[in-house]
Amino acid sequence: MTDYRCLNLGITKVYLIPCNEGYLLIDTGYPADYMKFRKKLAAVGVDVEEIKHLLLTHYHDDHVGFARKLKEEFGLPLILQKRSVPLLAKGDSGSEEGGQYITKRLKLLFSVFQLFHRSFRYPPVLTDGRDTLVDGDDDTVLRSLGIPARIIHTPGHTEDSMTLLFDDGTAFVGDAAMNFLKCTGTAYRPIYYTNEEKMYASIRRILSSGAKTIVPAHGNPYPAARLETMLNRFRGK
Ligand SMILES: [Zn+2]
Repeated sequence: MTDYRCLNLGITKVYLIPCNEGYLLIDTGYPADYMKFRKKLAAVGVDVEEIKHLLLTHYHDDHVGFARKLKEEFGLPLILQKRSVPLLAKGDSGSEEGGQYITKRLKLLFSVFQLFHRSFRYPPVLTDGRDTLVDGDDDTVLRSLGIPARIIHTPGHTEDSMTLLFDDGTAFVGDAAMNFLKCTGTAYRPIYYTNEEKMYASIRRILSSGAKTIVPAHGNPYPAARLETMLNRFRGK
């Protein structure tokens, strides 16, 4: 069983994974979630200095909101996709092309949400020589930190999305699959995609790579078999 701790920041859940020297943190929340993050970190008895690496699953504001702050204040090195670099430098996740909500009900819901949440901006994250850039799939970076897992490139939600797949089948998928707003018909799919074909192909890839438990950034963990059911329903076999 993969050992991890979940910090629920409201919309986004971030995860602490034990590594050789302390912890690897998967994602941050929105920029405004920083104090909540510090409180939740204290509540699980982890000092911020014990976090030694920050992995960003993709460049959206609810995942990298205070990444720059962590990098500047604590010198946290990043693990990220090479293709995330120019996106993170813009500090804006509201400008991508081809983005669609997965259902009509969600589109309606988010048109209301956006009346209140007008900006998708965050402090731009600039990479440097201490960061580790991954180009697609990778089977060495995490292992070198003492984490029995590999990285799979899982585009579709965004082009730069990646998944951490542990050898025991626990898959930290970021936003490549979700468990969120199911009342709107999402059925474990991302609520938003930039490329529908790639989104479904990535979910297939997560399954064929041996995922058993899906740990999403939005919603609770669930058995990977539910994604099989979803694929049968929406894509046939
Ligand atoms: Zn996202």
